[in-house]
Amino acid sequence: MHDHRKLGRELGLFDTDPLIGAGLPYWLPDGAIVRHTLEEYIRDAERRAGYRHVYSPVLGKRELYEISGHWEHYSDDMYPPMRIGDEQVVLRPSLCPHHALIYRSRSHSYRELPLRIAELGAMYRSELSGALGGLTRVRCIHLNDAHIFCTLDQVGAEVEAALAMIGSTYDALGITAARYRLSLPDAGGKYVAAPDMWRHANKLLTEVLDRSGVPYEAVEGEAAFYGPKIDIQVADHAGRESTLSTVQVDLHQPRQFDLRYVGPDGAKHRPVMVHRSIIGSIERVVAHLIEQHGGAFPVWLAPVQVAILPISEADEPAAAELRDRCVAEGLRAEVIGIEAGSLAARVRTARLVPCHFVLGPAERARDEVSVRIRDGRRIPARPAAEAIAEVRAAVGERRIDL
Ligand SMILES: [Zn+2]
Repeated sequence: MHDHRKLGRELGLFDTDPLIGAGLPYWLPDGAIVRHTLEEYIRDAERRAGYRHVYSPVLGKRELYEISGHWEHYSDDMYPPMRIGDEQVVLRPSLCPHHALIYRSRSHSYRELPLRIAELGAMYRSELSGALGGLTRVRCIHLNDAHIFCTLDQVGAEVEAALAMIGSTYDALGITAARYRLSLPDAGGKYVAAPDMWRHANKLLTEVLDRSGVPYEAVEGEAAFYGPKIDIQVADHAGRESTLSTVQVDLHQPRQFDLRYVGPDGAKHRPVMVHRSIIGSIERVVAHLIEQHGGAFPVWLAPVQVAILPISEADEPAAAELRDRCVAEGLRAEVIGIEAGSLAARVRTARLVPCHFVLGPAERARDEVSVRIRDGRRIPARPAAEAIAEVRAAVGERRIDL
């Protein structure tokens, strides 16, 4: 595996500037394409799974995090408050409290549950500068987050559905999980003290894991302060594990925010909050994809999907036309012209681009292209329209073999 910090800079995906600050990477155009494509993918998958998307501010009053419990249990990782007039506001350490308030802003019937609220939003963590680098240790995190407000009876099915969604997303992205972890509290940590609540939540998660049949390990000391979680771990280039995806059961914040729904009996009941992230933070998942694929992203994610290689100068106008056709068909295409060297040199330059369309006089005369795939496969000259349609199909099906 590659180190994403080195490769990400070489490939022009992201960078940092000391004047912006450590742990605050910016995304260059090719990196922004990968990120945008992932964001579109996950939002679409969530819409199909019945999630509703919201936007909420990245700041909140200190009091909000006092109520949620972050202030007491998590303030070491939070930025200090900013004073504005008589108020103190902080950069949010998580999206949960905002979503709890969004839920609370309307009354809810049991008929609306499970209510799934999703947001791909920024949150902030005051990492020490010594620990920063690349996309994995950052001070601003864009999380693929969602909170499912549901009845206790619905928790199992929602956790199961989230795990299934994580599985199908890993297939599309070519990601392999290192292991599933049931993250539990330990004796010394900063956890909400409510033994019954913990027992109940543990039982719910354990039942789903046992039913799902995936091997998992229970690890103490890794729970969220408000509840246990299922973490899906991935390994980086150096074999270090980190959590990419997570599913958590929270009986604490619904109580803190006094969340309610009206049951079939007409009385008010407390919902459960299931927190879940499918691809984790955009920063971490892109870092992982860079390392896992060595920069050779699956075709649907690749910053450039088709490299057009004219054989000689005379083929360059036709190459530019072909690029425009590809772009008009929704593909990301670039011409690598003869100024970039011999054909062999240009094939090397474009080695991470999934498809190469080679264009010489013979192809040009018949509106054809010769196709090379980055793994070395060659496909003899064929109509350009067919070659374009084939790449489009591979993108549409999110094939990972191209
Ligand atoms: Zn949450």
